[in-house]
Amino acid sequence: MNKKLIGIDLGGTTAKFAILTEDGEIQQKWSIQTNINDDGKKIVPDIIESIKHRLSLYEMTSDEFIGIGMGTPGTVDREAGTVIGAYNLNWSTLQEIKKPIEEALNIPFILDNDANVAALGERWKGAGENAADVIFMTLGTGVGGGIIANSQLVHGVAGAAGEIGHMTIEPGGFECTCGKKGCLETVASATGVVKLARMMSEEYSGESTLKEMIDDGQVVTSKDVFDLAKGNDSFALLVVDKVCYYLGYACGDLGNILNPNHIVIGGGVSAAGDFLLEQVQKHFKEFAFPQVYQSTKIKLAQLGNEAGVIGAASLALQFK
Ligand code: ZN
Repeated sequence: MNKKLIGIDLGGTTAKFAILTEDGEIQQKWSIQTNINDDGKKIVPDIIESIKHRLSLYEMTSDEFIGIGMGTPGTVDREAGTVIGAYNLNWSTLQEIKKPIEEALNIPFILDNDANVAALGERWKGAGENAADVIFMTLGTGVGGGIIANSQLVHGVAGAAGEIGHMTIEPGGFECTCGKKGCLETVASATGVVKLARMMSEEYSGESTLKEMIDDGQVVTSKDVFDLAKGNDSFALLVVDKVCYYLGYACGDLGNILNPNHIVIGGGVSAAGDFLLEQVQKHFKEFAFPQVYQSTKIKLAQLGNEAGVIGAASLALQFK
């Protein structure tokens, strides 16, 4: 009998689950709301209950599974199976995850950081084409990332490797939530794009719907900026070019250091699609040296929000 994998993508609003074959094909998926009340004490019991419920629904037993992998916000101790500092889950103190889940379900359990897990997913079944060297960056409310080199996730000494969002791309630039200035996240996240547009609008004097919206005090989103640029708004085009310049700069340096097969861009901002990709590629060519820009491909993510559960499940392949 072919054994199955379980992948869990734990987030601040929902926990997504999937049962997959060992080839990474999703057979069942479901989600539950994340209950962060009471210091997030309900989260692990809710996960256990939900899996128990589904296994009985599908008439499956623990011994039919190779393992469970989970992606979580916060700083992960992979050996101990614990998480600390996941503030959107109200997990400020050390949380035991692996021990209670393995005890309750009798299935081997492994966890990693959510951005790393999404990187594994895109690498395995998405734009990464299962290559040995893949960098994933996700442009959402923040900018996250994961780096796979020689087929291994790079974790770093404190588990902080792959934090692409905190690459300095503008010394002395906007302040970042990390306490530093000029991080990629401050200009290429959904909020960063808007912040950049607001700053640039002060010096722009031509005709522009985007500038009018900003001057008028209207709510502007990063999607508005990209949509207006696609419609040839002259100022929106300048903003998008600047965002893509920063992304191309970051991709260039990542490429120069790691020369991956693919740099994969995902997250909400990447919904701008080929319009974004082509401009990032243009700037990437300015910042990557020839051997790198000829061999490293910049691509859009393909899995959307399934990357997390797929990548999480792939962690459990090591129990085979
Ligand atoms: Zn930062």
